[in-house]
Amino acid sequence: MDMLSHALWADIGRRVISDNSSEKRRLIGWLVAGALLPDILHAIPVSIWALFGTGSPWDAVLAYALATPGTEPLMPAWVVETSRVAHCSLHSAVLAGLVSLLIWPGGNIQLRYLLLGWWSHILIDTFTHSAAYYPVRTFYPLSEWSFDGWAWNSPAFIATNYLLLGLVYLGIGLSRQRPWESPGRQEKDIA
Ligand SMILES: [Zn+2]
Repeated sequence: MDMLSHALWADIGRRVISDNSSEKRRLIGWLVAGALLPDILHAIPVSIWALFGTGSPWDAVLAYALATPGTEPLMPAWVVETSRVAHCSLHSAVLAGLVSLLIWPGGNIQLRYLLLGWWSHILIDTFTHSAAYYPVRTFYPLSEWSFDGWAWNSPAFIATNYLLLGLVYLGIGLSRQRPWESPGRQEKDIA
């Protein structure tokens, strides 16, 4: 899914799992960072190649970011491979599970929010990529399995997604204007 949507859905998730106190609101940066990292790290080798290449770095990165399968810019093998491994690893529930096992028990709340953001990215991307549009290998490197979902780049998906986001935020906004309907919220917001 696109990065803005990842950030917005992570924010909605935070509102669902937390009490929206000012302390929890301050953690949004960690959650959003976790939700965006899987789509940022694999662009690093591409950016390095683009910076030291012959053409415009901006054009090269843009061509990579907007590519559909088979239309990616021609890149050296090391760029393609490191980018692929980084993308697959950070979209893997296996790797996220291992890291969570290591970090969650003794980790502070910031790291836990980072992990939750990461998990939200994997969950969303598993179902919003299709077999024809960069399928997400959720159990990489143990399995090549991927879910043939509704590709997020289709116009119908984008329209539906942003309509849903708008409706959810509208609902959140309306519920805030009626604090008497959710006892406790007003106290927490004031505290
Ligand atoms: Zn992704």
